[in-house]
Amino acid sequence: MNPNREKLAERYEFFQNVFFLLDYLVLGLFLFILLVGGRGSLSLAVWHRTVEAVNGNFWLSTLLFVFIVQAAYQIVTFPYTYAKDYRLEKVFDLSNQTFGGWFWDLIKSAFLTTLLLLAALLFCYAMMRFLGQWWFLAAGAGWIFLQIVLGMLFPVVILPLFYKSEEIKEHPCKERLIKMLESNGLKVTGLYRLDLSEKTKKANAMLCGLGATRRVMMSDALLEYPEDEIIAVMAHEVGHYKRRHIWKLAALHAVLILLGLFLLSKVLALYCARAGIDYSAAGSYPVFLLFFSLWQLVTMPITNGFSRKCETEADLFALQSTGLGKAFASALTRLAEGNLAVLYVPRIIEIFLYSHPATGKRIKMAENWEGKL
Ligand SMILES: [Zn+2]
Repeated sequence: MNPNREKLAERYEFFQNVFFLLDYLVLGLFLFILLVGGRGSLSLAVWHRTVEAVNGNFWLSTLLFVFIVQAAYQIVTFPYTYAKDYRLEKVFDLSNQTFGGWFWDLIKSAFLTTLLLLAALLFCYAMMRFLGQWWFLAAGAGWIFLQIVLGMLFPVVILPLFYKSEEIKEHPCKERLIKMLESNGLKVTGLYRLDLSEKTKKANAMLCGLGATRRVMMSDALLEYPEDEIIAVMAHEVGHYKRRHIWKLAALHAVLILLGLFLLSKVLALYCARAGIDYSAAGSYPVFLLFFSLWQLVTMPITNGFSRKCETEADLFALQSTGLGKAFASALTRLAEGNLAVLYVPRIIEIFLYSHPATGKRIKMAENWEGKL
């Protein structure tokens, strides 16, 4: 890797880690301001006002209160979101977006997440109302259902909201790619070129969608790589499919979510009793949010650890099935340079934050593989 890029990558990594910590600090501070003061807290004051405003209607008060908390958070943290998502990418020359373009994307994603969040929270609180503390079972089932639906819709509904893509009609290694997919029993509805360069200088490849929507997506920058490198990168994606990683990861997440929801059901019972509100009152939403942020933090080493294991398996599959060790190492180096990824990170950071093994390790494994042949 070019030493200048490597130095820049280290600085970029540093800022990303700072922003990761800030993420939790900002949310923690926001929730502290809402929750401090027991029964006299700001959160409960707003909740009681909300209930009054809609004459105690369960559905409307739930929707309105969750919306108020969510909107307040988005507005209060806007300068932070701007610094993290827009400025940082600009400073490190990774973004091709204008401010207007970025802001429009932010509006779209905020709209989409708020809509999903409102539907999900309304479901959770309705289940609390009808099932009491057993609501967590229904919520867990709902979460699994949502994952499947989103997985199917992602490439055809969500991705097109943010990126253009088109089916690859002609490409020098199209035949080779299709042959590789077919020989591994992987049925896809097509190979797609994802227009990432309109927005970012980063490159990427992925296998996305479920069943009838499953497709291979390659960013336009990746499609410019040498043929062997494209094949090696895609073989890694095929490795995820062959080893059933999507399902294994989904199962792990489902178990952790269910366990989290179960613990949350107990935490909410304690909070509601102390706050003097009904168990199914959405006034407990800030506690819901606090619990899930902490749960995500606590389970991060588990999910990332498992994900890193899957990534190594997929790397091994790519090497075994193609024998293209050198090309894979060179593609990983090219990706690291383009995406400003550091080659090595302290182990503790890798354990907590990295869903992939540090790139340097992956490159070394690929180079060593070539040596073995
Ligand atoms: Zn992967």
